[in-house]
Amino acid sequence: MKYIILRNRPEGKPSLKDFGTKETEKPQPGEGEILLKALYVSVDPYLRGRMRDEKSYIPPFKLNEPMESMVVPEVEDSKNENFSKGDFVSGMLDWQEYQVSDGKGLNKINKDIAPLSAYLGILGLTGITAYLGLEKIGKLKEGETLLVSGAAGAVGSIVGQIGKIKKCKVVGIAGSDEKIKKITKVFKFDEGINYKTTDNIKEEIKKACPNGVDVYFDNVGGEMLDAAILNMNKFGRVVNCGAISLYNSKEKPTGLRLEPFLIKKSILMQGFTVRDYAEDFQPAIKQLSKWLKEDKLQYEETIVEGFEKIPQAFLDLFEGKNQGKMVVKV
Ligand code: NDP
Repeated sequence: MKYIILRNRPEGKPSLKDFGTKETEKPQPGEGEILLKALYVSVDPYLRGRMRDEKSYIPPFKLNEPMESMVVPEVEDSKNENFSKGDFVSGMLDWQEYQVSDGKGLNKINKDIAPLSAYLGILGLTGITAYLGLEKIGKLKEGETLLVSGAAGAVGSIVGQIGKIKKCKVVGIAGSDEKIKKITKVFKFDEGINYKTTDNIKEEIKKACPNGVDVYFDNVGGEMLDAAILNMNKFGRVVNCGAISLYNSKEKPTGLRLEPFLIKKSILMQGFTVRDYAEDFQPAIKQLSKWLKEDKLQYEETIVEGFEKIPQAFLDLFEGKNQGKMVVKV
């Protein structure tokens, strides 16, 4: 059975040589344990941070040891009374085809409610991040203008749709015309901006948001954040969800001093990690499931097939090769 390790800590942009695939015996569950067979593996931009040897809200990966992310496996054998063979679960697990677990931290999931991969996206941390970031920090109100970057990605595409459910004007920023078509035609955003074909993103935002921006949900950081803040309204809220444009930078990023704009416009700007709101996960999942059932939310997935493709799928996030949630089907 195969597993994937971190071989090097990359400087700048990671590449396939920073990962390694190894083989070992399939493990056997002991008393109180279960044997898990990986079915779907989530790849996420934040994993880039864990490749650095830095103190953060989550420990760094160890060199030459398996990497981990959210995984949906099937229980193949159980010596634990809380799980039965054939159960499907989700949890933070190693990038291994098979592994044993004592079951702690795993959630049982139901494939009759949604396809298994959805528990890594819309009904997993992705959907919860979109919902709680908007709810807790964005505090979006009907009639406001919502701007979201990374708009065709996993989190961004849900954020924008929630904005439409809340009867707001929604403008999305993404990196190709195909993505802009997707967010406007399929997800019904009001406007889309392709940041790769403009050299003045600030003006493009101004044109698309003639009444200014009330909430900016930022998945990208850097210059896009600067440009958004320059278009914010009085009492605007900036939700700092992610900063993917900076994750691979080697130098310390520089940019505008934002404080004069924040002060002048009384703007609230707050970062978060979704785990800050762990006690709100269940109500968030309940609301997202309800919207899904009512057909108010749609979700998109880019599913890559093959366990050994996990590193490439992760690298492809930084090239914008995904639409919606990037997931590997083992
Ligand atoms: P996505 O599905 O949005 O995938 C990443 C996307 O980012 C790509 O498709 C690409 O789209 C875009 N991108 C890549 N490089 C750049 C760049 N240099 N500049 C601008 N855009 C870029 O990922 P997620 O939805 O999973 O995550 C979105 C953001 O939210 C990330 O920053 C992530 O770290 C963060 N996040 C934060 C959480 C939290 O708890 N705070 C939880 C989950 C995610 P394009 O073609 O448009 O460039």
